[in-house]
Amino acid sequence: QAQTKMAAMMDLERTYIMIKPDGVQRGLIGDIVKRFEQKGFKLVAAKLYSPSRAHFEKHYEDLKGKKFFPSMIDYMITGPVFCMVWAGKGAVKTGRKMLGETNPADSLPGSIRGDFCIDIGRNICHGSDTVENAEKEIALWFPEGTNAWTSHSQGWIYE
Ligand code: UDP
Ligand code: MG
Repeated sequence: QAQTKMAAMMDLERTYIMIKPDGVQRGLIGDIVKRFEQKGFKLVAAKLYSPSRAHFEKHYEDLKGKKFFPSMIDYMITGPVFCMVWAGKGAVKTGRKMLGETNPADSLPGSIRGDFCIDIGRNICHGSDTVENAEKEIALWFPEGTNAWTSHSQGWIYE
């Protein structure tokens, strides 16, 4: 019972992490997945996917009107993206820290953007910025739902 309750709590927070076309092209899927796995977050959904322009426009609807918006969407539709949902305590905030700053030039070494990229328009990954936006993004990218499972490491990651 206590075990089930702990599992439910640890799974409550989920974040949407996406490897953009440049990250896929540059063979960085494995490195990025590895960091989230090693941290202790739990993968509950993943797929390689080539969505429409309209789908990306919906995902980035808050940025409509920005000068960089059209070229950013052009870049996003150049190839497949790798879509993931990671679950765990503090997954949204910690996920953002693991990605680094939006501009790779401001990202510390040790972060994904700090280690793997240079330009803001080729920053290889996306991560949800709030719990509310994470749930919206998960609904948009995984209408089929995510996978419930219990990690055997759970008791070694959470106290
Ligand atoms: N972006 C860009 N130029 C800018 C600002 C943002 O090309 O001046 C791109 C960049 O790839 C970024 C994405 O637009 O990741 C979404 O911007 P946001 O501010 O949401 O940054 P993020 O949440 O990805 O860190
Ligand atoms: Mg954002």
